[in-house]
Amino acid sequence: MSQPLTLTHWIGGVRREGPVARERRNPSNLDEVVAVAPEAAAVLVDEAVAAAAAAQPAWAEASPEARSDILDRAGAILFEEREAVGRLLAREEGKTLPEAIGEAARAARILKFFAGEALRRTGMTVDSVRPGVDAATYRQAVGVFGLITPWNFPIAIPAWKTAPALAFGNAVVLKPSELTPALADVLAQVLGRAGLPAGVFNLVQGAGATGAALVGHRGVQGVSFTGSQATGSAIAAETVRRQARLQMEMGGKNPLVVLADADLDLAVRCALDGAFFASGQRCTASSRIIVEARIHDAFLERLAEAMRSLTVGDALDPATRIGPLASQAQYDKVRGYLEIAAGEGAELLSGPEPATTARGWFQPPVLLAGATGAMRTSREEIFGPVGSVLRASDYDEALTLANAGDVGLSAGIVTDSLSKARHFQRHVRTGMVMVNLATAGVDYHVPFGGVAGSSYGPREQGQAAIEFYTQLKTAYVAGS
Ligand code: NAD
Repeated sequence: MSQPLTLTHWIGGVRREGPVARERRNPSNLDEVVAVAPEAAAVLVDEAVAAAAAAQPAWAEASPEARSDILDRAGAILFEEREAVGRLLAREEGKTLPEAIGEAARAARILKFFAGEALRRTGMTVDSVRPGVDAATYRQAVGVFGLITPWNFPIAIPAWKTAPALAFGNAVVLKPSELTPALADVLAQVLGRAGLPAGVFNLVQGAGATGAALVGHRGVQGVSFTGSQATGSAIAAETVRRQARLQMEMGGKNPLVVLADADLDLAVRCALDGAFFASGQRCTASSRIIVEARIHDAFLERLAEAMRSLTVGDALDPATRIGPLASQAQYDKVRGYLEIAAGEGAELLSGPEPATTARGWFQPPVLLAGATGAMRTSREEIFGPVGSVLRASDYDEALTLANAGDVGLSAGIVTDSLSKARHFQRHVRTGMVMVNLATAGVDYHVPFGGVAGSSYGPREQGQAAIEFYTQLKTAYVAGS
């Protein structure tokens, strides 16, 4: 067992210690303390914002090449160290080792993608309607961004907010989840080693109160948040009140539709991946599996059989396919929803018990057979390895079920019918749609986001990120 990491804040390029506020234990082995972390009070948040504001103008004026090179170097360092970072991530958050290494590599690729984007802060010229006048737009940095992130992608999400902010000349104060302080510290270290000037990136550790102090700070011009809808509502009220920019990514209740003409092996793979991998703790997880009646029973039988072959256990064990839930709160929440499901009349089909005797937040995967759209477990985000299986008489009913509810992040359909796939792509009410793929698992260089209660503000990632992290200026010049 390794020694616990003693974490700090990072302000103005230097570590700032603070009294230990909380310890983070390995969710696969609660006897292991992975890290201890401090909690930033409002006065420290003030300092972090001041450091960011002081560093930002020179960073924005620097050559785009300078910004690009630093992000590229940071991406290279992180990619090189992805296995060690992945191991820490598996111990801190509970993803299986391959999933965790994959996330570290993804964060590295994101940094490298935005190294390229730093060179593309482009505007446009417009023929003015007035002879002798030139009109043009160009993009400028916004200033200081406050970034508030969840625990379920503890380095990829901080990276996909930080990288575009920095690429386009802004400075950042990151407030990561209090459950995953160590991975945020890794990002701070990597950026420092890549040569980022002091103060351009600052990290304040802490929980909701630290986040609220950052969101409410008048020196923060924009807030990007990923997390739950309840927290998002509070953040929206505050940022709109003081007219700060706001972008939010929140929960999902993502449907995977399986039609009667589907390749059933493929459909089972999509459902297993979407519903259970990363222990179902993905905002894009397939939590509603909607199956056309003609194949419902055969598909359910095959899916349940495949689910029973998944090994649940320690995130670092190579045999493990499903790691633990991230925390006791997650565990209690999932167990509570399983009780609700039983009370609502669903049949609970459970996967294997954990293949470990260690104390951890292990939850076997569960299918809720006989689920209906009216059940709470079909409408509320569970965020665990639980898939509701709903029966639809035909494609039209499947689409209606898929479009129920007040969130819309990702949807999937498994079918051999081109016309139904095309219809679904156009008519499902989500920000992302997958054909013959799981609802979870997205590329790092294309826009990401949902509709309705899932997202608010401009899209994240890919070329779309420039919208949020820059502001347009329109310039007119008259000359002879
Ligand atoms: P959460 O809302 O509890 O916490 C998210 C972050 O907000 C944490 O850093 C937390 O400390 C901070 N916070 C809490 N109260 C705050 C306040 N009043 N002001 C400012 N900050 C505050 O969410 P979580 O449990 O960490 O994450 C799980 C949720 O995130 C799920 O609902 C999931 O769907 C969602 N999520 C969405 C996406 C997406 O891109 N759509 C991606 C990952 C996770």
